[in-house]
Amino acid sequence: MAIKLDPATREALVDRVRFYRDLGLTELYRRPVDPVLQAQLAAVLDAPQHAIPQPVAGQNAVHSPLPLPSQQDTAQGAGNHETKPAAAYQLEPQEDHPIPPRKTMPAPPAIAPAVPTADRAAALQIIRDEIGDCTRCALHSGRHKLVFGDGSPSARLMFVGEGPGADEDAQGLPFVGKAGQLLNNMINAMGLKREEVYIANVVKCRPPGNRVPEPEEANTCSPFLFGQIDVIRPEVLVALGATAATYLLGQRQPLAGLRGRVHFVRGTKLIVTYHPAYLLRDPRQKKEAWADLQIAMSELGLKASGRG
Ligand code: URA
Repeated sequence: MAIKLDPATREALVDRVRFYRDLGLTELYRRPVDPVLQAQLAAVLDAPQHAIPQPVAGQNAVHSPLPLPSQQDTAQGAGNHETKPAAAYQLEPQEDHPIPPRKTMPAPPAIAPAVPTADRAAALQIIRDEIGDCTRCALHSGRHKLVFGDGSPSARLMFVGEGPGADEDAQGLPFVGKAGQLLNNMINAMGLKREEVYIANVVKCRPPGNRVPEPEEANTCSPFLFGQIDVIRPEVLVALGATAATYLLGQRQPLAGLRGRVHFVRGTKLIVTYHPAYLLRDPRQKKEAWADLQIAMSELGLKASGRG
């Protein structure tokens, strides 16, 4: 008999198997089922509903020996308190469900040849012209101003955010709202002026309600970001938040595992840190962000200005 999993449990298992596969662990085996546990499971499955330990509101149900019904099951089965007969649970798989591969991100464009410093402003303008009055993705429909990027074309340090917010959409410049003020302070604390660095985003148009850009939107827009990086060739890139880290690195990973070390992207060192908007919500993390920026500073040979 195979246990017929509810969709949420199945999705969680699929994710777990993908995770192992991403780690290179492809040979998985099944432990023989402990006969004692199997007997206990059978007893629980055969028991009437009132004999099955039910989670108490407010208590974590981790001790439940059974997958709890998904919300869908609960909604669909509202008022039906009958226990599924044991036969409804199949303990052996009847068919092999292939695990679909993780959605891959499109390969980034090849790194463009280096542009002499004197030509970088013009090269950036060529990319801006190429974007034009963009309608490549759905984000264009809510846009007031496209936010290309801002700063020095020969910057040693480049920051990458997620996408414009309301202030940026109104002004056509990145990081000019509250998060931008905090970013300016962070830049100054590193001993730099905003005009000395370059700032751009993964998507150039504001996502409605500041939502996270959809993969299709980010993948459509990110080649322009890669173009900007290739022209500027900063010595250090700083990804502000998970969206920037994901599209720069080409893979989705929790921020915690990416911070605190140097990555390499398009021949440039990359440091991952928190998004300033997140730091505004949880200022306790500023210390952590400062530690990340110090890695960037050490890579650039900069000393802290003492302001912070
Ligand atoms: N948040 C971003 O990610 N980018 C901006 O330009 C402004 C806010």
